[in-house]
This record gives sequence, C-alpha cells and structure tokens, in this order.
Amino acid sequence: MVVVDWAKGSDTKWRRFRATILRRDRYRCRIGLPGCVVTATHVDHIIPLHQGGAKYDPANCRAACADCNLSRGRGRERRDPEPQPRSSW
Ligand SMILES: [Zn+2]
Repeated sequence: MVVVDWAKGSDTKWRRFRATILRRDRYRCRIGLPGCVVTATHVDHIIPLHQGGAKYDPANCRAACADCNLSRGRGRERRDPEPQPRSSW
C-alpha cells in the first residue's frame, strides 16, 4: 500500500474538485487520444491555466487518463514551441 502524505503538499480544495469532475465524467477519459487507457485519473483543463483558464470551473475541466493528459502536454510542446519571452517585464 502506498502511503501518500496528503496533509503536507496536497490541496484539499483541488482534490475534492477533481473528484467531483471525475465522478461527473464517470471516470472515463474524455480526450481519447490514440493509446488512451480510458480510465480517468486526471483532470484536464480545456483552457490551460496559463492561458487564463479557470482552475475551478467545471466547464473548463474534463476527466482524462494519465496517458492523454501527459501526451497532450507533450504534443503541445512539440507542435507549439514556447514563444520567446517578451523582455518588457
Ligand atoms: Zn485518455
């Protein structure tokens, strides 16, 4: 059995919110990329937080399996490299 020390690092509000989204989507991945393992354990933000997406908006969240969630991140890096940071700040 893996013991996770939730009390230290984890955010109770996020954990509860994530559980709500997973239940809403019946623990099935809603991204469905090739290689999808279907069983959702992650919550994906449709509009990423760094693009102004709301972290706690159920409309911006969907259940995602680990594979899709991670490969979505990887694919985004590959297709869309980081723009050069502006030096105005
Ligand atoms: Zn998936």
